Amino acid sequence: MKYYFGIDIGGTEIKFGFFDETKRLIDTFKILTPTENIREELVNSIFLKVKERLEKEKLTLDSLYGIGLTIPGPVNSAGIIIFCANLNVGYDFDIVTAIKEKFNKPTLKVVVGNDANLAAYGEYKILARSNLSNLVFITLGTGVGGGVIVNKKLVTGFTGSAGEIGHMPYDLNNNRKCGCGGIGCVETIAGTAGMIQTANDLMKKEKSIMKDKTLTPKVIFDSAKEGDLVALKVVDSVSQAIGYMAATIATIVDPEVFIIGGGVAQAGQFLLSKINYHYQQVARFETTKARFELAKLGNDAGFYGAFYLLLED
Ligand SMILES: [Zn+2]
Repeated sequence: MKYYFGIDIGGTEIKFGFFDETKRLIDTFKILTPTENIREELVNSIFLKVKERLEKEKLTLDSLYGIGLTIPGPVNSAGIIIFCANLNVGYDFDIVTAIKEKFNKPTLKVVVGNDANLAAYGEYKILARSNLSNLVFITLGTGVGGGVIVNKKLVTGFTGSAGEIGHMPYDLNNNRKCGCGGIGCVETIAGTAGMIQTANDLMKKEKSIMKDKTLTPKVIFDSAKEGDLVALKVVDSVSQAIGYMAATIATIVDPEVFIIGGGVAQAGQFLLSKINYHYQQVARFETTKARFELAKLGNDAGFYGAFYLLLED
């Protein structure tokens, strides 16, 4: 039997998925992301955890065939992390070579990709409908990210920036600075900071049950479900930004399904129906047929995608 690990490297924790060649998930576990000497410690801790987990099954490194990694930032086509704001590994980190050297196993397959892209791929593979060829994954959390599957293949692009859909220009006059350095990206409205800013701006003039609460997306969505007008306006602005963004993407990709994931997706059908409403207002041609569905894998999507990427040739 061949064994594989899909490993989702985040800014605060690293999540491992341990698989066998029948695509069965044997186990999942996580560790904290190292905070010092990160390049070396990252590779070290992955090596130690993988070895330890194999030994628990009375296996050696001989039965390990592949390690798939996700990175919270862009990865170029050669598998090099040029720079990653969420993972302090400096410039031009060749993590694939570093892992191979640590395991001292030239035949070991090591692949690496962007976390949102691979989460998209994981969701796509788990949906596993033979008739599904084009899918767009939208992740709503601190930021707005995504991944695009066209003709059953993950699109990574020339510089590894494909799927950075949250940075699509949306409201160039809103004067809100985005984490990417741009102004008026979708994320400045639909990301966590954007939602909170919209709520605070509205509460300067309008009454709200959120007035004395610490604002989070959950507080905003829960208040909207209770009928709070300010919260409903915030949810509407988020849904419009995502709906219009999706309609723009649809003119290029024409997907069958948009999958909505990330922490904010816990708002469920309430959010989905509002996004779909705005989408339908501006969707062109027959792209109105695209459906919106909730993600199924939650925080496991990244390591599933990294694992499935390993099975590609
Ligand atoms: Zn941006």
